[in-house]
Amino acid sequence: MKIIITPLDLKEYLKTNRKTIGFVPTMGALHEGHISLIKEARKNNELVVVSIFVNPTQFLEGEDLSTYPRKDDADKKICELSGVDILFFPHADDIYGKDEVSVLSPNVRGYILEGYSRPGHFNGVLTVVNKLLNIVNPTNAYFGKKDAQQLNLISLMVKQLFMNVNIIAMDTMRESDGLAMSSRNAYLSKEERIEALKISSSLQVAFGMVNRGLTDTKVIESKMRETLHTLEVFYVAIVNRDFEQIQTIEIGNTIVLVEVKVGTTRLLDNIWL
Ligand code: AMP
Repeated sequence: MKIIITPLDLKEYLKTNRKTIGFVPTMGALHEGHISLIKEARKNNELVVVSIFVNPTQFLEGEDLSTYPRKDDADKKICELSGVDILFFPHADDIYGKDEVSVLSPNVRGYILEGYSRPGHFNGVLTVVNKLLNIVNPTNAYFGKKDAQQLNLISLMVKQLFMNVNIIAMDTMRESDGLAMSSRNAYLSKEERIEALKISSSLQVAFGMVNRGLTDTKVIESKMRETLHTLEVFYVAIVNRDFEQIQTIEIGNTIVLVEVKVGTTRLLDNIWL
């Protein structure tokens, strides 16, 4: 595995590349969720590039940029063992200059749900993903459905900016008790880890109701809120795949989303119906 630090070095290295490239952008502290993306990239591409970059522009003032978990050595080993060819590990000043061009997220989809509780967050996400895709120029780029709104906005950017990359959506990997894997789970105390199970339980409640034939999204959302009542809830939402609120469940075109705070940790999860 080759470790490359600067965008110019990576571009130079890939200049004469004729192989298919699978790209997995991450913020590190890698877990099974990330590994599932890397394995899929390994299966379907000749060259696999993973980036680890804790992107400062997607953190709002007062968020956890300075404390975000960093596990550089373990991450390098995981990448090596997962068959990664190139690990791109840039510094912030390799990616950003002083007076920056940036990508703005759309006025509606970028400012609802997570974009409402974290205004501007998705501008940072789209800007860095745009830069990373331009540096790597991959055939396929892999993203998790766990960050459903992010995935939707990245797909929209790729379409609207006529970018040449296939965006591949990957299922959410969970702990055996249902908690969605996340680098931020490392912040949870033992008690908070138990409280956090209410997130996946609330999604199971929704899943069960839909299985019993219930389709009224308001009824389902209010039952979910009951499950989550001891937590600070940022949103419980049921939307279609274009992130429009819906009144009735449409199987094959629905995402049920939750974002809560457990202690001081913001956690999100969803299921696709
Ligand atoms: P992050 O390092 O949190 O920015 O995540 C990097 C990529 O991994 C994103 O596309 C995430 O959606 C994806 N990801 C994070 N957690 C999971 C998970 N539990 N299962 C599958 N993919 C995930």
